[in-house]
Amino acid sequence: MAYNKINYYKRIIEIQELTLKLHNFKNMYYKEIYWQHIEPKYHISYRTFHEYLGIPAARELKKLNAKKPQAPSFFDDCKHEHTHKKSISSHTNCETTAIFCLDCGRQLSQPKTDC
Ligand SMILES: [Zn+2]
Repeated sequence: MAYNKINYYKRIIEIQELTLKLHNFKNMYYKEIYWQHIEPKYHISYRTFHEYLGIPAARELKKLNAKKPQAPSFFDDCKHEHTHKKSISSHTNCETTAIFCLDCGRQLSQPKTDC
């Protein structure tokens, strides 16, 4: 559903940009732009075209993108089946290690220092 909305706003932005460009640089009227460029390509009604021009699509798209989870859901599902011991820091005689997941990279254990 969110994916469809993203495509919907992307299409509106595309139409808005094209319309503004033709209007500002070629001094075309909205009606001309609609019949020569929008209708043949997007197959929307003139009413819908007018509606699209009034939608703050860029702002809505930004909101949708901000809602996306930071990390892929794959990381949340990780069972940490493949682990390895990694050295975090080592001094002359002491080494600090912890267990890390090989799949998602998360640290799974408290750091342990061996001297
Ligand atoms: Zn993991």
